[in-house]
Amino acid sequence: MTADCLFCKMVSGQIKPSTVYEDMDVLAFKDINPQAPVHVLVIPKKHIATLNDLDASHAGLTGKLIIAAAHIARESGIAESGYRIVMNCNADAGQSVFHVHLHLLGGRVMRWPPG
Ligand code: 5GP
Ligand code: ZN
Repeated sequence: MTADCLFCKMVSGQIKPSTVYEDMDVLAFKDINPQAPVHVLVIPKKHIATLNDLDASHAGLTGKLIIAAAHIARESGIAESGYRIVMNCNADAGQSVFHVHLHLLGGRVMRWPPG
């Protein structure tokens, strides 16, 4: 828990997100500014600022983020039509919240390459 971190406040319940999935290690909630019909953020409950802060000790946790995203995709009905997961790191990727998160996007056709 980092006191001034928006996503830590969601984990602690100080701010109530629109939760779609939760387990011991992971919380997932709807993005406030959705870029697709399904846009869910999947975060570790533990504060990790960026992908650059991950090491081998986080292997299980990072796997859980992806497995949770696939579960939510199935529950949301987009598993068969398809979806994208995105993780932004630092300025060039446009990371704006410095608590690691995975974007699950689906429910429409995605373009490639991404902008
Ligand atoms: P990033 O740009 O860091 O990859 O993604 C941060 C995401 O957090 C953005 O898609 C943004 O819309 C979302 N976001 C920012 N503030 C809030 C909030 O207060 N609640 C929710 N649910 N999402 C937020
Ligand atoms: Zn945090």
